[in-house]
Amino acid sequence: MRKLLSLENLTLIAIVLGFIAGVFIPEKVKELKLLGDVFLSLLKMIIVPLVFTSVFVAMIGLGSLRKFGDMGIKTLAYYTATTGLSVGVGLILVNLIDPGEGAGVDLTAGGEVRVKSLTLEDIVWNIIPSNPVKSFTEGKVLQIIFFAVLLGLATLTVRREKLDHIRDLFEGLNEGLINLTRWVVKLTPLGVFALVSYMVATAGVGVFLSLWEYALTVILGLLIHAFLVLPAIAFILGRYNPYSYLRKVREAPLLAFSTASSAATLPVSMQVAEEKGKVRKETAGFVLPLGATVNMDGTALYESVAAVFIANLYGIDLSLPQMVMIFLTATLASIGAAAIPGAGLVMLALVLSSVGVPLEGIGIIIAVDRFLDMLRTAVNVWGDLNGAKIIDRFVR
Ligand code: ASP
Repeated sequence: MRKLLSLENLTLIAIVLGFIAGVFIPEKVKELKLLGDVFLSLLKMIIVPLVFTSVFVAMIGLGSLRKFGDMGIKTLAYYTATTGLSVGVGLILVNLIDPGEGAGVDLTAGGEVRVKSLTLEDIVWNIIPSNPVKSFTEGKVLQIIFFAVLLGLATLTVRREKLDHIRDLFEGLNEGLINLTRWVVKLTPLGVFALVSYMVATAGVGVFLSLWEYALTVILGLLIHAFLVLPAIAFILGRYNPYSYLRKVREAPLLAFSTASSAATLPVSMQVAEEKGKVRKETAGFVLPLGATVNMDGTALYESVAAVFIANLYGIDLSLPQMVMIFLTATLASIGAAAIPGAGLVMLALVLSSVGVPLEGIGIIIAVDRFLDMLRTAVNVWGDLNGAKIIDRFVR
């Protein structure tokens, strides 16, 4: 019975009920707007502190600036490059397939459509803050990450006992925030019911029909990245056969698929990478935990596809600078996302607001999010495992 009423099943039931309610009692469910908005606010509430503590803790976790200089820089370079590639795959595919384009659905009911254009200068000032407190209050996540990385590195140079205190404090805060995310995610069935029924009531069933196109784009992108892009890098940089490596370590991506959590998978990733993948312990011990928190290729790809899909639904034509902004925010959102189920969806708010796409669009894609979450988490972990194997070759 308990298994039957799991969060995933309840969410599925909520989606179906939301549909039915939206079609048959549209006037009644419009009153549920507040409930849906509360759910979205609870998700948004966590973003700023979670991003700051995750990145800051990962930086301090390096232990010393010297380590940042050796393994740290190589690992970060690899992670940034592969994440960027995956966003690239996502953006190319979504622009080719154009899911949601011409859906002909009037979504203005779901929220006000705001379109803003962006210049190169805007992008620079979106990353570099002049006042970090302002970045926090305005939820400028790129600025927060920039500040967290620099402050984290600088903090590594303070006295040992002070550093230990700071680490304890921020690790504790980070854990608390992750637990808070878990609690909010527990409300998903309620939130989904309110959002889906409201969307159906105001925008009609048509919106959801274009979802299959969106899901297909994400799935295709994930497959290309996992089975073509990452293996190509493994062949070239790592000089090993990625497909036989995958056979050896497959337990980890499979567990990631079933738990939709890179964090929950981490112990298994470390074990299989060391014992079956023959990655040295020191490398696995650094690269994999860091990767679980900051390296999420699948999530980044999904963020970019979802953002363009939602913009399409709203009939927003994205300019080139806006695409660049999606590229940057999707990359950074995946870095800031917690390694737990549904975290990518939380971070999507950030990508959407960076280009002025209404956040209400999240209410539509939430219907297929759990399944896509499982797939993207498997790709996230597969990316980490390749990172460990490749970095291992370079830090002899
Ligand atoms: N569930 C993903 C992970 O743990 C994050 C996400 O929601 O995209 O890797």
